[in-house]
Amino acid sequence: MEHLVTSNLRLGIIAGGQLAKMLIQDASKWDIATYVLDGDEHCPARSIATGFQQGSRLDPEAVYRFGKAVDFLTFEIESIHAEALKRLRDEGLPIAPDPSVLELIQDKGHQKEFLRRQGIPSPSFRLFGGRDEVLRALASGGLRLPFVQKLRKGGYDGRGVVVVDHEGDLANLLDGPCLVEDRVEIHKEIAVTAARNRHGEIRCYPVVEMVFDPRANLVDHLVCPADLTEGQTRAAQEMAASAAEALRIEGLLAVEFFVDRRGQVLANEMAPRPHNSGHHTIESVVTSQFEQHLRAIFGLPLGSTHLKLPAVMINLLGAEGYEGPVRYQGLTESLALEGVKIHLYGKKTTRPFRKMGHVTVIAPTVEEALERARRVKELIRVVS
Ligand code: ADP
Repeated sequence: MEHLVTSNLRLGIIAGGQLAKMLIQDASKWDIATYVLDGDEHCPARSIATGFQQGSRLDPEAVYRFGKAVDFLTFEIESIHAEALKRLRDEGLPIAPDPSVLELIQDKGHQKEFLRRQGIPSPSFRLFGGRDEVLRALASGGLRLPFVQKLRKGGYDGRGVVVVDHEGDLANLLDGPCLVEDRVEIHKEIAVTAARNRHGEIRCYPVVEMVFDPRANLVDHLVCPADLTEGQTRAAQEMAASAAEALRIEGLLAVEFFVDRRGQVLANEMAPRPHNSGHHTIESVVTSQFEQHLRAIFGLPLGSTHLKLPAVMINLLGAEGYEGPVRYQGLTESLALEGVKIHLYGKKTTRPFRKMGHVTVIAPTVEEALERARRVKELIRVVS
């Protein structure tokens, strides 16, 4: 820790979205200098970073050049040129999490194989080379409806995922290397973030429930703690911890799960970074996910993940029908409500369903937090 502060250590963060911005907010408390690489010169993190380099995270030269100008590297997104990171690592740059973890997670097929190898329950799946192969398997009876097709690479926020319930849905099949898995009858979607440092210390955050906006395929709101049985809570936390340990990750690992109609907890996917489902930790947990990520990547003692108060988080999404310079309505009225914490990411323009900010509501009970969050949702509008 002393070394971090007194050596003027330069922490590089690949991509400058809201996750990087919130990571920098915590890094600045420890006086760590932060440098951001992003293709967008107006990215949210730029306004508070010590330095900024414009460039694509998928361009090996840009990633390499950026890495050469910092002392330590981390990231806030999965889609990064992993070979460039490996080259930097092999030349001695400390990078956490390790590029090999990132590479595994970039491919949903490899992620699923990893979960299977670890004996972590998840929907059963098969890998395919492309759409035609899926259709042939169906025709030959080797595959049955319903199922879910997922592209192995490049999907996010529901893009790259097709739920096939009926024959008619087959027209939506995507082409490219993919996996096909059992369609789960989802009762709830939940997430657990685990943190692990190089000394093997692991801590898990309380389980959150994610409630999706079906039109945008984005989290509409999340609730912490999730309403689960003790057994389900324990199962989700144990699976997240065992995945973090098996990967020997240094940093955060957010794991999303389904709870099916029979109450079974099944792992869905992992992210090796701070996560949208952990924003509430800034106000409601002793150690925020962002501070924890810093502790974990630098090999510092992990902080308490004790929940101080129940929380509900809502994403502030661009309203439908508006595109252009952003205006917010209803912020003042919302601030008048007890326990309401507003975060605006500083994106200059809005478009339908763009993540522009979030609000965390903390309250003595989940019910009160939900009630106030509902009120905030009615009050705040993101328009142009
Ligand atoms: P992404 O990488 O886009 O977040 P996910 O794997 O989380 O992809 O899938 C997006 C959404 O699709 C999930 O939140 C869930 O609602 C639905 N989904 C994904 N996998 C399944 C499945 N096996 N069964 C039923 N629904 C699924």
